Amino acid sequence: MLKELCGRFYSLLKKEAAHENEPQRILFLLRNIMLLLGLYFLIFPLVMCLVSPRTRGWIGYVFAVLAALIFFGTYRLQVRTGVVMCVTLQLAWVVIFILMYGWDCGIQHLMFEMLVLVYFAIYNGVGYKIGYTAFLFAVRFVLFVYCRRNQPYYGLTENATVVLQIMNMILSFVLMGVVCAMFSSNVESAEKKLVLYNEQLKKQAGTDPLTGLWNRRQMMQYITEKHQKEPNMAFTLGMGDIDFFKRINDHWGHDCGDAVLVWITRHMSEVLGEHARLCRWGGEEFIFFFPDMNGDQVCEILNVLRMRLDNDPFDWKGEWLKVTMTFGVEENDFSSSIDTLLKNVDDKLYMGKKQGRDRVIY
Ligand code: GH3
Ligand code: MG
Ligand code: MG
Repeated sequence: MLKELCGRFYSLLKKEAAHENEPQRILFLLRNIMLLLGLYFLIFPLVMCLVSPRTRGWIGYVFAVLAALIFFGTYRLQVRTGVVMCVTLQLAWVVIFILMYGWDCGIQHLMFEMLVLVYFAIYNGVGYKIGYTAFLFAVRFVLFVYCRRNQPYYGLTENATVVLQIMNMILSFVLMGVVCAMFSSNVESAEKKLVLYNEQLKKQAGTDPLTGLWNRRQMMQYITEKHQKEPNMAFTLGMGDIDFFKRINDHWGHDCGDAVLVWITRHMSEVLGEHARLCRWGGEEFIFFFPDMNGDQVCEILNVLRMRLDNDPFDWKGEWLKVTMTFGVEENDFSSSIDTLLKNVDDKLYMGKKQGRDRVIY
C-alpha cells in the first residue's frame, strides 16, 4: 500500500513536460525543490509560533500556496518559465525574510542555490548568466547595506535567531545538495554514455561487419604495437585464402559466398581461436597472428583446420559444397619488418595456390 503510494507519487514527480522537447529532468528537479520549499514554508509559521509568537509567521502559508501553484504549474508551463518562477519565489522570500527578521538568520545563502540552478537549468548565453549573477549580487549587496543601516521590522531574541539560522542553513544545504546531485548525475551519465559510445565506435571501426572478426586496420595496429612494445617476442604469421571462392559466388550466388565466409569464420575461431588473433584481411583472405609459437606448431594447427574443412562440407540449402583453403606460414626472424613478413607469408600462400591449393606452405 505504502509502496504503491510512493510509486504513484514518484511517477507524478517524473511526469513528462506538457511541451515537446523540454528537458524532463529539470521539471523533476523543480518539483523536488518546490516540495522541499513547501515543506519549509509550512513548518515556518509553527516554528515562529514557538520561538517568536509576536511576529507574523503566517507569511509562510502564503509562500506555501505559491510553491504549490508553481509545483502544479510545472505540468503546464514551459521549463524556462518554471525555473524563473521558482527563482522569483525564492528571491521574494529572501528579500521579505531579511526585511522582516534581519541579516543574521542566514536566509541569504539560498542565493547560491538560485545561482547554480539558473546556470545549469536554462540554456542561455554567458552574457545572460553574468547579468543574472550581477543582479543577485546587487540584491544581496543592497540588502546587506540596508541591514547595516536599519533595524529589521521584527526584533528577534537570540534564541529565535539561532533557531531560524539552523532552519535556513538546513534549507540552503538541502536545496543546494539536490540541485548539485541532479546536475552532477546528469554529467556523469552523459559521460558514461559517451565513453560507451566511443568504445562502440572504436569496436565498429576495427571489426568486419560480416564475420565479426578484426579488420585489416585493427590487425595492423595490433601487430605494430605488439612488435614495438616487445621487439624480441617470438610469433608466427599465418595467411589463409579460400580456394576458388569466385566460383562459389558465380555458381551459388553472393549470399552463398557470404554464408561460406561466416561458416569458415566459425571453424577458424574454433580451431585457431585460443592460439591466435584472427582477422579478415580483405575479401576471402584471412591473417592469423600466433604469439609465442613457431612455424612448425602453426603448420600443425593449420593442417587441423584444413582437414576439418576437407571433411565437413558446407550445407547450402541441402547442397553439400566442398570448400577448401590454402595457407601460408611465416615465422618472425627478428630482423624483418612487419611489411616484409606479410609479403613473405603472401608469397607462400601464392606458392600454395600454384602447387594445387588445399595445403599449408611454410
Ligand atoms: P583462388 O583459389 O585463386 O583464391 O581463387 P578465388 O576465386 O578464390 O580468388 P579470386 O580473387 O579470383 O576471387 C575472390 C572473390 O571473392 C571475388 C569477390 O567477388 C569475392 N568476394 C570478396 N569479398 C566478398 C564478400 O564479402 N562476399 C562474397 N560473397 N564474395 C566476396
Ligand atoms: Mg581465393
Ligand atoms: Mg584472394
